Amino acid sequence: MALIVHKYGGTSMGSPERIRNVAKRVAKWARAGHQMVVVPSAMSGETNRLLGLAKELAPSRAMQSYHRELDMLAATGEQASSALLAIALQAEGMEAVSYAGWQVPIRTDSSYTKARIESIDDQRVRSDLAAGKVVIVTGFQGIDGEGNITTLGRGGSDTSAVAVAAAMKADECLIYTDVDGVYTTDPRVVPEARRLQTVSFEEMLEMASLGSKVLQIRSVEFAGKYKVPMRVLSSFTPWDIDINEEAKSGTLITFEEDEKMEQAVVSGIAFNRDEAKISVLGVPDKPGIAYKILGAVADANIEVDVIIQNVSKDGKTDFSFTVNRNDYTRTVELLKEKVLPELGAQEVAGDTKICKVSIVGIGMRSHVGVASKMFRTLSEEGINIQMISTSEIKTSVVIDEKYMELAVRTLHKAFELDQPAA
Ligand code: ADP
Ligand code: ASP
Ligand code: MG
Repeated sequence: MALIVHKYGGTSMGSPERIRNVAKRVAKWARAGHQMVVVPSAMSGETNRLLGLAKELAPSRAMQSYHRELDMLAATGEQASSALLAIALQAEGMEAVSYAGWQVPIRTDSSYTKARIESIDDQRVRSDLAAGKVVIVTGFQGIDGEGNITTLGRGGSDTSAVAVAAAMKADECLIYTDVDGVYTTDPRVVPEARRLQTVSFEEMLEMASLGSKVLQIRSVEFAGKYKVPMRVLSSFTPWDIDINEEAKSGTLITFEEDEKMEQAVVSGIAFNRDEAKISVLGVPDKPGIAYKILGAVADANIEVDVIIQNVSKDGKTDFSFTVNRNDYTRTVELLKEKVLPELGAQEVAGDTKICKVSIVGIGMRSHVGVASKMFRTLSEEGINIQMISTSEIKTSVVIDEKYMELAVRTLHKAFELDQPAA
């Protein structure tokens, strides 16, 4: 008997029929003798619908000031699907109980809409499991020190599941989704993408942080920190497939790198359309510019990603960086009001129609020329690179959004990701 955590994403919970299928699958695992904790997402589209209603009532650039209420609102999506799953399980003849985040409780900090889990009390869940119940822990939500409901950021149910698995020292955390594993890139953009049997934790962390939304980055961080055995697999296989076959399907996140070091140099391509570029033009080139610009941005709690400073001409330089598109207007306003006058810079320019495309692979550490192959491939397609950022195991470029699919497809081919692994 093992303690297993299942997580089901929005599409997997998308209709009563699908919830019934989830219930049948969970019941199969429970009847095979496992203790089951299940973490569901809201039904697909529900979180967007709820947040859309809020946008009808308040200007979207002021959304920041309604964060507490947005969390109250968005958390209802998961609460509904958790109750529905408990009902479906009971209708299947299983004993099941659902808990909202505050009932567990899952304690978080107070950063509404992107709260971090601080601790999980597993007493209640454990005693239900001991009594033979399936326990449903509502995903995406928690409670802060003052009793406010918080949410964990978009895609946050992944993190709820892995955090519950870590807190309970579960034997495995299975993330059921609408694709049958982690692919070399998003299979919806590149149909030739290949499913990876295993992916190293470091590569998965990099892919998630670079925009591959198959797993929320914090879930991968939790898995790494607590060494949670974790697998991504499909919820669309027939619910009654052989449980041993199911347990081996999908993609396993591994914590050993050695075996992979000899394999593909690039193991995946990620892309992100959520960023916008901001340039401060004509800045006098003297010490402290980066601090003045980025310090003001950081003080406003805005995260910055790729940064470049151009060579100076006639004592002036241009300074560019990317932020999340949701923070674009706020950042431009802040720079115009506070930073431009102080710096004596000429202008703030921006571009929201950009995207970031990244190649990822731990094999890049030991191979030279990987980045230059990426640049050559893009130049052969006539795609202009606006910004570059590199680390040991990734190279990212910022390009015009309209070339995103072309870039991802061409790079996927150039790095032979469509070919079976050696
Ligand atoms: P869920 O609702 O189950 O959490 P998500 O939509 O959050 O599902 O994540 C699954 C989606 O992630 C897939 O449908 C796929 O389009 C996308 N995706 C992006 N990159 C990858 C990748 N490298 N491998 C697999 N899926 C990916
Ligand atoms: N329902 C939330 C979202 O859409 C959380 C999740 O699905 O993981 O972002
Ligand atoms: Mg998700």
